[in-house]
Amino acid sequence: MPKALYIDGAWVEPAEGGRFAVIDPATEQPIAEVAAATAADVDRAVKAARRAFDAGPWPRLSGGERAAVLRAIAEGIRARLGELAAIEVADNGKPLPEAEWDIGDAAGCFEFYAGLAETFDATREEAIALPDARFRSTAVKEPVGVVGAIIPWNYPLLMAAWKVAPALAAGCTIVLKPSELTPLTALELADIADKAGLPAGVLNVVTGFGAAAGQPLADHPGVDKLAFTGSVPTGSRVMQAAARDIKRVSLELGGKSPFLVFADSDVEKAVEWIMFGIFWNQGQVCSATSRVLVERPLYDAVVARLVAESRRITIGNGREAGVLLGPLVSAGQYAKVTAAIERGVAEGARLAAGGKRPAHLPTGYFIEPAVFVDTPPESSVWREEIFGPVVCLAPFDTEDEAIRSANDSPFGLAAAVMSDDLARCERVAAKLRAGIVWINCSQPTFTEAPWGGFKQSGIGRELGRWGFENYLEVKQITRFETAEKWGWYIK
Ligand code: NAD
Repeated sequence: MPKALYIDGAWVEPAEGGRFAVIDPATEQPIAEVAAATAADVDRAVKAARRAFDAGPWPRLSGGERAAVLRAIAEGIRARLGELAAIEVADNGKPLPEAEWDIGDAAGCFEFYAGLAETFDATREEAIALPDARFRSTAVKEPVGVVGAIIPWNYPLLMAAWKVAPALAAGCTIVLKPSELTPLTALELADIADKAGLPAGVLNVVTGFGAAAGQPLADHPGVDKLAFTGSVPTGSRVMQAAARDIKRVSLELGGKSPFLVFADSDVEKAVEWIMFGIFWNQGQVCSATSRVLVERPLYDAVVARLVAESRRITIGNGREAGVLLGPLVSAGQYAKVTAAIERGVAEGARLAAGGKRPAHLPTGYFIEPAVFVDTPPESSVWREEIFGPVVCLAPFDTEDEAIRSANDSPFGLAAAVMSDDLARCERVAAKLRAGIVWINCSQPTFTEAPWGGFKQSGIGRELGRWGFENYLEVKQITRFETAEKWGWYIK
């Protein structure tokens, strides 16, 4: 059954009637047909969101009332966890246990922001102390308005939840554009929200391509705030669109995150976290620790264990039990990652393991986890985001050298440091120019904690109370409350 667009509380056909196929990356077969939205559909969706914001009940409900709907959405997600996880596997390719983890996280995100919406009733107004007793001032937080949310394909439902849940909690209305590669669970979210009692127009989902649907959403004058997750070039385009009419904008972009392993670390723990840092989700993780710096005395041991363990990873269709590495998301991503590996070899990095199509998987966008060692710091595999299961290692001799090398990147999303010496971990963490620093681990992510990058990795923070503030404006209300005249012009 072809899937329609969800606009103003109804399933509607796209204005130009376009459709596109969604491909299962493990089989290369189409699994669904989805509506291809164009500017006319985006305009309709933004107008619906605008009406719902300007005249509908949602922004005017108490935080507690909104929280009840958010909790119902969380319950709706949990009730369909298995089904949604299976859709995510078919759409994105990730192993089923990872998909189940993501869907549980997405439900948890709605629950967390329901909690913040409840406390918001008591915190949204703040009295301001003034030096002049004739005036009384309060700062009031209000929803920012209509949000245009544009998301990537690596965590389809979770990336939607990171934007939709805080925006709804704040009282905003939303037009969500999922990635053209993985649009299916965003449509299910619309269905769940509809059944949870979200008023018409509050959440609209337009499936479609970047240029045809994403750009018109970024450009639309009816949008107050753009929340974008994706690549740096697209983020730059979204920011330029926002600049034209001073829309609020938050960007979560790419990374090339370093992992510093000091010689006093346990080799087994180091290797396991290095693997989790780059092979989880086939390495298609913005915060993946793809550059690993190992202190020289431990370097050979880490390389030997990492090469051995990476060869033992079970690769296959994400639906099969025991699989820990699925296919890349698309033919395009497969071509990009393969080309990056070939370039790395040509530039003098030594490919110690993987990087090829597994012999037993002739179909699907599968690639063996790749381990580059002795990676030259000027090579493209060391410097550029690959967004695949490709890790690059290099040795270091001093703490200062490791920190310098870690910070030598235009990105600054995440970093990790491992050492038995916690004082050193804290000292290094303070010097790393990154929005997220993991100590003695890599990647665990909590809805409660701020998420976002330094430098070209983005602007603003998602998650936690920081993610909530993204969707709020601050209004000052100041009252002249004395019976006296002002007495400047008229005495
Ligand atoms: P992308 O930039 O190609 O696409 C992201 C989204 O933008 C998609 O929905 C796409 O359709 C849309 N888009 C494309 N062109 C557009 C345009 N001109 N105007 C408006 N929207 C447009 O990125 P991707 O390939 O989907 O995702 C991979 C990238 O996302 C990686 O660089 C990764 O690091 C980044 N990422 C970052 C985070 C984070 O939290 N920082 C999380 C996940 C992914």
